Amino acid sequence: MEMDRTYNFNPGPAALPLEVLEQGRDSFIEFAGQGMSLLEMSHRSKPVERMIAETEQLLLELIGLEDAGYRVLFMSGGASAQFALLAMNLLTAGKAGRYVLAGSFSEKAYEEALTVGAAEVLASGKEAGWARLPSIEVALTALTEEDTAYVHVTTNNTIEGSQFKTFPDTGGIPLIGDMTSDILSRKIDWTRFAMFYAGAQKNLGPAGVTAVVIREDLLAASAAAKIPAIFRYATYASNNSLYNTPPVHSIYMMKLMLEWTARQGGVAAMETRSAEKAALLYEAIDGSGGFYRGIVEKPDRSAMNATWRLPDESLEKAFAQEAQAAGFAGLAGHRSVGGIRASIYNGVPVEACRALAGFMNDFRKRRG
Ligand code: PLP
Repeated sequence: MEMDRTYNFNPGPAALPLEVLEQGRDSFIEFAGQGMSLLEMSHRSKPVERMIAETEQLLLELIGLEDAGYRVLFMSGGASAQFALLAMNLLTAGKAGRYVLAGSFSEKAYEEALTVGAAEVLASGKEAGWARLPSIEVALTALTEEDTAYVHVTTNNTIEGSQFKTFPDTGGIPLIGDMTSDILSRKIDWTRFAMFYAGAQKNLGPAGVTAVVIREDLLAASAAAKIPAIFRYATYASNNSLYNTPPVHSIYMMKLMLEWTARQGGVAAMETRSAEKAALLYEAIDGSGGFYRGIVEKPDRSAMNATWRLPDESLEKAFAQEAQAAGFAGLAGHRSVGGIRASIYNGVPVEACRALAGFMNDFRKRRG
């Protein structure tokens, strides 16, 4: 069945490639020649066990971390659950978790850690209204392995539209990244991170599962945490994410999305494409003679979530409404920030951004 697909700029759940959706649809009816749907199959059946192991392997291969001492855990509760779980697993007595605050999700991560143990702000961009990223490097020099359990950073700030471009070498202090909104979108030195995690619903597939990539020394540390087994990272690792019934179909959709990413040319291709998409929108903003104003300072702008304002709120409302009517979905800014936000994750084609840039230019000519 052919249908016109809306240009989807939703912040998450977000756009997925049509071929991934079609493959997912087929698995609803029949999977792996078993005469039944994947939805009906035991998570302990061989085809499902194999599918989960392959998904772990694929993710590690895409980021070049296979054989580097990392595991992938498939967990529930979204990235928000990780805010609490990482502190429960890794905050040891006498040490603090240090948080880089660069947007509201990083604040939430910090607040959850405070409910578990000692958490402290390492650097914050709040006073700058989240329009500029704080420097991680400067604050790091004062830390030691003895007083710091880990440093936590949100690599891309989904709501505000900023993105860290580089990550410091934290030496023996584990660096933990919330990569929910930019995993697999660019080449980075992943080994700088002892752990990173991402809710699937942007670059990894639909909602329902969270990928936690974690180094084996942190897994060993988590084994000693005095917390229920179901919350312990080590439990997931030693049971290949099959300690309890995992969200099997969400993991399968992640596998399809990872295979799609590999077919496109992997992370390098995603980076090139993201840069092209972001440039189309930022050029429309910067070339508008001040009609559109980027919210974040240029060097810190995100290639995943572009945020901008119009001269007043009524024009912003008109923009979002007219865009929706013209086939562009999900452009209203987050309710806490206002303005306009275009989320341009891996599943959004370049063509969608070109069309949106055209709409922006047209709207400015009519209303500017
Ligand atoms: N962290 C970041 C950077 C996010 O963008 C989001 C959701 O958009 C979350 C955490 C929360 O994720 P979840 O809804 O999966 O708990």
